[in-house]
Amino acid sequence: MDSIELLRDFSADYFEARERFCESANAVGAELVRYPITVDQSLSIDVAIVNARASRQRLVVSSGVHGVEGPLGSAIQLSMLRMLHQSELPDDLGYTLIHSINPFGYAHHRRWNEENVDLNRNFKCSSNTYSGCPAGYKNFESVLNPKTAPSRLEPFRVKAFWNIALHGVQAIKEAVATGQYEYPQGLFYGGRAECFSSRIVRENFHTWMGESDEIVHLDVHTGLGRFADYRLLLEYPPGAPAVAWFRELFGRPIVEDGGSHPTSYDARGTFGLWAMADQASLDYRFATVEVGTHPIVRVLAALRAENRAHHYASSSSDIEWARQELRECFCPTSPKWRRKVLADQMKVVQRCAQQLKKAVGNRSEVVGSC
Ligand SMILES: [Zn+2]
Repeated sequence: MDSIELLRDFSADYFEARERFCESANAVGAELVRYPITVDQSLSIDVAIVNARASRQRLVVSSGVHGVEGPLGSAIQLSMLRMLHQSELPDDLGYTLIHSINPFGYAHHRRWNEENVDLNRNFKCSSNTYSGCPAGYKNFESVLNPKTAPSRLEPFRVKAFWNIALHGVQAIKEAVATGQYEYPQGLFYGGRAECFSSRIVRENFHTWMGESDEIVHLDVHTGLGRFADYRLLLEYPPGAPAVAWFRELFGRPIVEDGGSHPTSYDARGTFGLWAMADQASLDYRFATVEVGTHPIVRVLAALRAENRAHHYASSSSDIEWARQELRECFCPTSPKWRRKVLADQMKVVQRCAQQLKKAVGNRSEVVGSC
């Protein structure tokens, strides 16, 4: 795939991305299902299902759980649909592409959803409740969530560097990003109850998997890690079969399991933990794709400024600069970044598809027909 084509797969905004996704899904004969969100019916989660009943092996790619991170996931999905159209991906596999799980966040350039909720802290397994807050978060709360409009002159980055020097980057990540359920206007808020998007996913996930019972699922995120580098973050314990499967394909440095934390951190209520429990009876492997952008302090400063602007800014110019910086932090405008990360991720997709295709050969039994 040439680099001009890859650059074109990044859409200008949510609406363009959704339109292109649906057109491309129709072109390959996918089943297309739309779920408009309650607060704004012009926004929707869209799901394309290819070979719903013809294959026991399925590759799932989901995008936009963290709205503003949607552009890369959407570009990957668009590239996949074009490759399917050009027979550059195995056509005897099933594919499920879940477009923009948080459409409000994607459309409004927010990581959070219409209720200020971080959806990746809102998927609940039965043992979890929507309550609690890490002690570390409480210590940082007033610094993270000032109840005033943001200022471009404020020395947040200096303070953040000082805190990181004092406590270490991992301690800050664990304290801040693992999720909290006590500050509804704060960063990384997991909500009081299941949100619309989480419910739609929970109620329909089985249907989206068609008749497949061997599934690899890549959930695409950006904003954490070295610029234009990527990791596959697994929430399985070390030694789990899924860890071995991903490690064999991608090698140890790329694949981080639940016991290693160079890029990842433990979070509650994640999409992955929920999906792994929900699909436990199947051969189901979930990985969070995390693609690095700018340094963590810049990303955190951008999240903090945008959240303040959303809740407290009175001038549209304050909101606009905060949003623009947030977009840059989660999908850099650099053509070099865009070309590299999309080319890398298409290799990840192709490698997963080829590995699943080997299983098609081993298990020739086909369920139903398309
Ligand atoms: Zn994310």
